[in-house]
Amino acid sequence: MSNQATIIANIAAIQARIAAACQLYERQSPPRLMAVTKTRNVTEISAAIAAGITDIGENYLQEALSKQAELRVQPDAWHFIGPIQTNKTRAIASHFDWVHSVDRAKIITRLNEQRPAQRGPLNICLQVNINDEDSKAGANIDEVAELAKLVLSQTHLRLRGLMAIPANTDDLQQQRQNFAALRGIFTSLQTQFPEAPLDTLSMGMSSDMEAAVAEGATIVRIGSDIFGPRIAQVK
Ligand SMILES: *Cc1c(COP(=O)(O)O)cnc(C)c1O
Repeated sequence: MSNQATIIANIAAIQARIAAACQLYERQSPPRLMAVTKTRNVTEISAAIAAGITDIGENYLQEALSKQAELRVQPDAWHFIGPIQTNKTRAIASHFDWVHSVDRAKIITRLNEQRPAQRGPLNICLQVNINDEDSKAGANIDEVAELAKLVLSQTHLRLRGLMAIPANTDDLQQQRQNFAALRGIFTSLQTQFPEAPLDTLSMGMSSDMEAAVAEGATIVRIGSDIFGPRIAQVK
């Protein structure tokens, strides 16, 4: 199969896995499928869009900007999902529809100040360091409510929900526990901020997608199972 045919077949297979998980775990509406395209070229991204992908996630700003400029057919939404350096917030606020990796106050106020008004509010997910790992980005669990309040006070931001990348494990029950913990924080935010437009749990990657669907993911972020095993990072 050509690379393009492989991508199309992989997307169909992922959609079938999502449908099967929804049936198994009695989910009425399936999560949105985001294709994560770090290190992937515009030909591969175009194949995914042609196959019906509407949401694209990128981790590195420079890489994303050059691909955005080159792509003929744009997706419905660009999602920034990588670590955010302070000096990159202006470009992120200008060139993305969603940011899933917001984890500190300074990033929140800068994204708000730098969001071009004509683009409408920038959709925000707070990234939570759900297993309290030293190596991982994300806010600590006890910081989330305060950060949520800050996002909600910003005119050019819209707080949509939470994102996490849990500790790596092959154990389905352990994966589910991690995602259930994120859902618990999400539910308490909904209670604490009943007026907030909180509708998004961004969780589940190639190796733990089913567990995330079981625990209520509304967006799953899939890279390798669409484009093949990860290749060396282009930074
Ligand atoms: C790379 C990446 C993904 C996709 O991971 P796969 O295991 O390749 O599906 C999802 N989310 C984030 C934040 C990533 O960096």
